[in-house]
Amino acid sequence: MPVTLPPAAHADKSKPYIPLAGGADDGYSTEEEATATCFCGAVQLKFASPSCFKFPPTQGPGFVDSWICNCTDCHKITASMFASNFTIADTHLTHVRGRENLTAYGQANTIASKRKMTNHFCSTCGSLMYRTGDGYPGQSLLRIGTVDDFHLHETKLKPQVEQFIESRVGWLHGVDGVPQVVGLAK
Ligand SMILES: [Zn+2]
Ligand SMILES: [Zn+2]
Repeated sequence: MPVTLPPAAHADKSKPYIPLAGGADDGYSTEEEATATCFCGAVQLKFASPSCFKFPPTQGPGFVDSWICNCTDCHKITASMFASNFTIADTHLTHVRGRENLTAYGQANTIASKRKMTNHFCSTCGSLMYRTGDGYPGQSLLRIGTVDDFHLHETKLKPQVEQFIESRVGWLHGVDGVPQVVGLAK
C-alpha cells in the first residue's frame, strides 16, 4: 500500500526545517552557520559554513567529512544501532552555551587505533554533542542528529561513507549511494 508522507517530507529541502525537538526552540541555520543543540537545550554549538558545502560531495571551510559508523562502541554510545557523524575543524566550531554543562568520558581500549577517544555529553540530558580524539587533533566529531536544521541531515550533511559494516545489524541496509567499508574508512 502506498505510504503518504506528511507535508514536511515534501518541503523544499534547500530551506531550513527546524521542528521542535527537545527543550530548546532557538536553533537556526543561515548561509553562514548552523546550530546543534542537545535534547534539553542546555548545550548549543554552532558551526560554519554550511552554505559553502558542496553537495555532493560535502566540502567547505571547516567541514571535514560526514559518515555512518556501525562499530560496537557506537551501538553503546548511541544506545542504538549506528552513529551518524560529521567532523568540523575546531576553528569553525563555537560553543554558544552550556560548555560548562558538558561531561567528558574517554577511553582507548576499544578504539581500533588504541588512541583515546573522548565523548562530550550534556550532563543534564545525556546528548552526546561531539567526540574528540588523540588521532583527530584540532577537530570535533559532531552528531548529525543534534543539528537543528533537519533538512541539513539529508542534504549537506548526508553521510559520505559508511564504516564498520561488519557490525551492522542484519535488519538495516546501508546508506544509498555511498561506499560501504569494512573496518575504519579513514
Ligand atoms: Zn542537554
Ligand atoms: Zn563507531
